Amino acid sequence: MIRKLPLLNKDNATFWQQGAFNNLMIHHCASCQQYFHPPAPVCFHCLSEDVMPKKTSGKGTVASFTINHQKWQPDLEVPYIVAIIELTDQKGLRFVSNIVEINPDEVFIGMPVSVIFEEIDDIWLPLFKKEA
Ligand SMILES: [Zn+2]
Repeated sequence: MIRKLPLLNKDNATFWQQGAFNNLMIHHCASCQQYFHPPAPVCFHCLSEDVMPKKTSGKGTVASFTINHQKWQPDLEVPYIVAIIELTDQKGLRFVSNIVEINPDEVFIGMPVSVIFEEIDDIWLPLFKKEA
């Protein structure tokens, strides 16, 4: 699948590159003890600057999903699954990813998933597969 790769900066580099070590790192605030995403220099919850990436379990559930059948680019493989994943580490800690290694018909809301990483040009994309 062809993917648009993110631009790295000092805030998001950990998120995009710790996949090399199988770590899903999400920014965490030392003041309010909550995760937030996407990575930023200031906590979304309490505006504290006392934030740094923290390792998560890499496990979550499918909060919502859609199946894309549209071939937006000639070399795009369809169908594929775009999902909102809620990590088990914190209620409401969600981000958009793809679910892979599954027939799109078999995905359901609430399905337990765990992270896997796909490396492209020094970026480790966090993708999710059904938890065995
Ligand atoms: Zn905070």
